[in-house]
Amino acid sequence: MDRKKQNCPYCQESIYANAIVCRYCSRDLPPNIPHLEYQSSTPWLPLLLTSALLIGATAIFSSSRMRDRLGLPHRKTRS
Ligand SMILES: [Zn+2]
Repeated sequence: MDRKKQNCPYCQESIYANAIVCRYCSRDLPPNIPHLEYQSSTPWLPLLLTSALLIGATAIFSSSRMRDRLGLPHRKTRS
């Protein structure tokens, strides 16, 4: 859990960095997370990475399943 503190831009009281409402002046706080700013500046990059990962995972998964079907059956478990 991130427990970093920041100052409220309205009343300058010390509040948690991931707070969405100031507990002193009850104002809505602007999203102040650097990760979100990075994502919004390059929205295509995480999307591309996610789709590439998905395609890769699907390919690996389907190929391993194919190998499982064509290869040795694993269900011969005699006790
Ligand atoms: Zn405040």
